[in-house]
Amino acid sequence: MSSALSVVVDDGVAVVTFDLPGEPVNKFSKAVIAEFVAVFDEVERNSSVVGAVLISGKADTFIAGADIDQFLEFTSAADAARESAEGHKLMDRLEHGRVPWVAAIHGACLGGGLEASLACAYRIVGDSPKTVLALPEVQLGLIPGAGGTQRLPRTVGLQAALDMILTGKNVRAKKALQIGLADEMVHPSILRTVAIRRAKDLAQGTIARRRAHKADAKGALLEGNPVGRAVVFRQAREMTLKKSRGHYPALLAALEAVAAGFHGSEAEGFATEARLFGEMAFTPVSRQLIFLFYATTSLKKDTGVSGEAPPPAKIGKLGVLGSGFMGAGIAAISAMQGVPVRFKDTKHAAVAKGLLAVRDVLHDRLRKKQVTRQQFEDQLSLVSGTVDYSGFSNVPLLIEAVFEDLAVKHAVLREAEAVLPPGAIFATNTSTIPIHRVAEASRDRSRVVGMHFFSPVHKMPLLEVIVTPQTAPDVVATTVAFGRRLGKTVIVVNDAPGFYVNRILAPYINEAGKLLDEGAHIEAIDRAMLDYGFPVGPVTLLDEVGLDIAGKSGAIMSAAFGERLQPSATLGQVLATGRLGRKGKKGFYLYDEKGKKGGVDESVYAATPAGSKRIDVSVADIQERLALAMVNEAVRCVEEGILRAPRDGDIGAVFGIGFPPFRGGPLRVVDTVGAAELVRRLEALNAKHPGRFEPAKLLREMAAANKTFYPTTGKPV
Ligand code: NAD
Repeated sequence: MSSALSVVVDDGVAVVTFDLPGEPVNKFSKAVIAEFVAVFDEVERNSSVVGAVLISGKADTFIAGADIDQFLEFTSAADAARESAEGHKLMDRLEHGRVPWVAAIHGACLGGGLEASLACAYRIVGDSPKTVLALPEVQLGLIPGAGGTQRLPRTVGLQAALDMILTGKNVRAKKALQIGLADEMVHPSILRTVAIRRAKDLAQGTIARRRAHKADAKGALLEGNPVGRAVVFRQAREMTLKKSRGHYPALLAALEAVAAGFHGSEAEGFATEARLFGEMAFTPVSRQLIFLFYATTSLKKDTGVSGEAPPPAKIGKLGVLGSGFMGAGIAAISAMQGVPVRFKDTKHAAVAKGLLAVRDVLHDRLRKKQVTRQQFEDQLSLVSGTVDYSGFSNVPLLIEAVFEDLAVKHAVLREAEAVLPPGAIFATNTSTIPIHRVAEASRDRSRVVGMHFFSPVHKMPLLEVIVTPQTAPDVVATTVAFGRRLGKTVIVVNDAPGFYVNRILAPYINEAGKLLDEGAHIEAIDRAMLDYGFPVGPVTLLDEVGLDIAGKSGAIMSAAFGERLQPSATLGQVLATGRLGRKGKKGFYLYDEKGKKGGVDESVYAATPAGSKRIDVSVADIQERLALAMVNEAVRCVEEGILRAPRDGDIGAVFGIGFPPFRGGPLRVVDTVGAAELVRRLEALNAKHPGRFEPAKLLREMAAANKTFYPTTGKPV
């Protein structure tokens, strides 16, 4: 087997280059760790070596962390804890070896990669947007297991460390330098040279081996004494519980591990980290989050076409029809990726408004220092607008985001086809009109596809690509690849009312409405679903989406699917009183002049069938009805072939709707609960609410055959 590590001695410094063969990124695995041990032995033995540098051979990653496959091999919590303790030993050798180690970090330095860097005597970061440092373990339901919970607080202070450990967020090179996570920042081209120099400086004692954390005055005040630290821990715990609603045990475990390092000896700190790492590796939450990791990884490799896929066309310029809310968002994210965009709207004022909206999105990134002023100017200059079709003759992909009206969509499709080059793709961003209906006006239906972005476009991670039986495979491959280039997680679904995401949202929203029909309290419904793990409650979501939009979409769904997807009486009646939700500053909730949401608008009850006579419905009942309505509908989408794989259904729900990630997704819920048990629970619900909870045929079949959507052993996807 070819090795991952190579060592050359340069001017008395051992330069250890990590370059995992056959992999795009460097990862720690048992085999790699064994190689590290051998390299440490070699460095220790070679008395001519005075210092060492750890550097990556990959273009844009330092070390991406542990190989996740390994986590699936743990046989017990104790076994996982043992692995963590092994990791500690390795890091100890970096920290306490005969020679000082320098981490030369360019690109992603994540998890175990950052933990190894923290054990080094000195860290240099490459001045590049590619350089990001993070401990993302909590995002997998785990805690850092190779000393991160102990060495990070020592290096950057308690508050900065908790901020990183509890969120898993990325820290860029400059910020790393500011908070003391890095000791020096240099241009990537001189990273190696400077690292060698620093290793020698450390060996000769011309620079200090480790800089202790220097907290600023405020930080020091809080962290410098036991009472202050207790306050920091208490506040972090309260905030964590409030944010996570207790669903993510790794957050509390991480806090406990960090606290152990402060309250007890160093050894106790490390032992606590190892024990809790082991425990977390065996939580159901971690299993679901690791599943989502595999699901997204596998989706990234999916061309969107089953079998041999034609190569995607390169999109050198994007056309966008309609410079409204969605059109501007789509234009902005294209410009961010360096793709020139040509806008078309009907009036100059609309074009100007669109350009301004694009500028706002791009400028926000400048304000947050995610781009330089030059990059911002360059991106902005890529977007231009027109009221005719000038500049569209060399556009290979056009995304339509005009009014949600079939006649308007047909008109622009015909106009566009007259000017676009042969073979150009016409993608529609419609949210409710079946793609085959839009395609009816086309002279070549094979070039028509749906690209359903979610709002706000620059924030929402999902893109649904919707294909009709006529859509050509190269059109699918190209739109999928382009969507991914725009930074989206892309699922490909077949054309049907509501596509996938809005289809499963419909029964969920309807069920919330039915509860209101019966007299349930608005805040009880929202709170129950927040407790279930959704980021917003369904009634708040109705206000956000707009009651008019929800009403239209509800009508389309009930026309397509009948009684099962019949909207609630409440929605129609409340809409009839002129309430539109947040955009009209009047909905189920109160809004102030600026549109800021307040409490429930009690006066809305007068417009509901139950009037002011409200009833109490238990949290469990609310959750069961809403969640199972969505789960059952997701199963139907598999059954009807709307989804190409269960994986896409789970990713679509988590990324498109915010289905609680720790539950893995609606189809994972089927596997967790068991198809037979779900059939039983749906039947019980259906007996009480006839017609809405008839178990999907596929669910019954799975129950009878004792089947699951995903493999029960080995890799989850
Ligand atoms: P919008 O009203 O903000 O923008 C529509 C724009 O299209 C307007 O600027 C209008 O002037 C322009 N337009 C109308 N007729 C045109 C024509 N013939 N040629 C060129 N431009 C024309 O609407 P929006 O919210 O951006 O929605 C656009 C599309 O995106 C709709 O199909 C909608 O269903 C879909 N969509 C919207 C959302 C959302 O949350 N708003 C989400 C997903 C999809």
